[in-house]
Amino acid sequence: MTSLELISFINVVLFVGLFAVVLRDALRSPTRAKLNTALFFGSLAGVLVLSRLAQWTGFSADPAYPGLIIALLAVAPFAMVRLVDDFSHSPGWAQVAGAVGFVLLAGFALVAFGAMEPVVELAVVAFFLVVGGYAAVAFARAAARARGITRRRMTAVAVGAGLFIVAISIAFVGAFLGSTAAEVSSIVVQVLGLAVAFAFFLGFTPPAWIRRAWREPDLRRFLEQSIHLAGVTDERRAIAQLNAAAASTFGARGATVGVADRDRSVLRYVAQATGDWVEYPDDRFIAARAFQEQRRVVVANAAREDPENAEFYERVGAMAVIAAPISTENRRIGVLTVFAERMSVFAEDDLWLVDLLADQAAVLLESRELAQHASSLRAREEAARLKEEFLSAAAHDLRTPLTVVLGQAELLERRRQRNPAAPADAQGLARIAREARRLSDLVTELLDAQRLEQGTAVMDRAPADLLDVVEDVRERYEEGGLTVSVDRPALSLVASIDRPRIEQVLDNLVENALKYTPGGSPPQIRVASHEREARIEVVDHGIGIPEADHGRIFERFFRASNAQSITDTGLGLGLYICRRIVDEHGGRIWFEPTPGGGTTFALTLPLLAVAAGHVADEPPQWEDDPEPMTARELPADA
Ligand code: ADP
Repeated sequence: MTSLELISFINVVLFVGLFAVVLRDALRSPTRAKLNTALFFGSLAGVLVLSRLAQWTGFSADPAYPGLIIALLAVAPFAMVRLVDDFSHSPGWAQVAGAVGFVLLAGFALVAFGAMEPVVELAVVAFFLVVGGYAAVAFARAAARARGITRRRMTAVAVGAGLFIVAISIAFVGAFLGSTAAEVSSIVVQVLGLAVAFAFFLGFTPPAWIRRAWREPDLRRFLEQSIHLAGVTDERRAIAQLNAAAASTFGARGATVGVADRDRSVLRYVAQATGDWVEYPDDRFIAARAFQEQRRVVVANAAREDPENAEFYERVGAMAVIAAPISTENRRIGVLTVFAERMSVFAEDDLWLVDLLADQAAVLLESRELAQHASSLRAREEAARLKEEFLSAAAHDLRTPLTVVLGQAELLERRRQRNPAAPADAQGLARIAREARRLSDLVTELLDAQRLEQGTAVMDRAPADLLDVVEDVRERYEEGGLTVSVDRPALSLVASIDRPRIEQVLDNLVENALKYTPGGSPPQIRVASHEREARIEVVDHGIGIPEADHGRIFERFFRASNAQSITDTGLGLGLYICRRIVDEHGGRIWFEPTPGGGTTFALTLPLLAVAAGHVADEPPQWEDDPEPMTARELPADA
């Protein structure tokens, strides 16, 4: 046996084997695609077997033999054109042309081969090349459109069709060559033939283990993503990602998860093109049927099955549709729909896979819902806790000044009753006024915090020189008999601020510095600039903040453990309000221990401009900020 004979023998065995596998599959569960695949392999296996038999029996010398072989061979391209339509969209004329070409060719070959041998042979080659080229392009385009396993399958078939053209071309050229070259080309053609057969086999009827291997990465990604998606807060995004992952797992044109809104009898989907929610009544589309009947629905031709929505299915390329309900034991959550241009894209085991993915989606959607429910419960609990804290803090803090005001007022009243002519008690009145002011401050703080919860802290901003603001604060304390020293650069530091709010912040910091420095040295305000930021520090040498409390100082209602021993007035709201105000100005606020004891609160604010000012003092030198910002001209509007 020569090597050529051995190769062609192996070829025959493999082709017949592949044909047997494909045929068995087609007979078990016949579909048009499977029958066409069987036809394709049957044609090629038939040609090989017939030529073997003809050699043994001497039939190859019969004048009818070549015509019969050509007619049998012409079945393959005919089947190929039909297969293009089975897996992707193919225009009607191409189908008709394929059928007509086949009939003409087979007819001529059988009836008139003897008389017109060269013409028929040329026509066969032309037919093969045209069909092979058409199929290669069509499948390559289908592969480009597809994803996941379908992309691999369509790529395999496109490669097969390409090799088919190469094989035909070599066979044609080989016929005109000398005997050795013809022998070599014949071996090449046979090997190529086998490669074509395997490529088509993989693409058209991939065995289960190959399908599993191809699908595994996508399935794994789907499962990984669905776990991760439980934590994605934006539900629309989570569902869009789930859709994409499901489509890839099937290699389908698309997949969509519909979420049921039972109260309104609608299913909500995320539109593939816009990413927005779209709602449809929960009795529309094939998906809704699966949802209503709570069973998997498989439809090969959606437009025919549900003509009312035919236009929609055609627009999204959903001809073959598989839909499965997403539900848990006692709740209908939604529906998963997977769709493709053709049913052949799906394999039998895709049906259980849809169920599996729908179950997985159910777990995901349910856990998202539980998480949302839990977080809304937590938010409600937190709100209730805050209200309680607020009430107890407010009650406690308001009672102290109120008791003083009331006691003092009653005292004055009694004195007046006893001796109406006595002069007014100036000290008593001043105490009433002071405590009433404290009361009013507390109420303002409470209301401020309340307002902050509901909206923004900062209202109208305008350019202002921060040094003026600091100066105002200092003067106000001076008028009240309190010393606040100010360290400032000889510059103007202009920032766009809500001035009363920034004053409120500084007041609060100075107030705290005074409050938490028992009988000690006056606080100091230091101002400097660095790059495009102003930095204001309020430095005290007071009680400091215990390290254990550092992380919570800016929280609502938080007071450090050493604060109570100094004063029991304070709601723990001031710094919370300060941080909100500074944040909304695009700045930062923090604190650090003052070297030698005490606390330094620092804040930064973005600057509009810095200009050489009229104050001749040297700018203060910060440890970490030795260079003040270079002086620039103020903008005209500043
Ligand atoms: P309060 O009304 O209690 O002063 P704040 O929000 O202004 O509320 O401050 C929160 C807590 O931070 C205070 O209760 C105090 O424990 C601590 N704190 C604030 N400023 C200082 C400071 N300059 N020195 C020491 N502790 C301070």
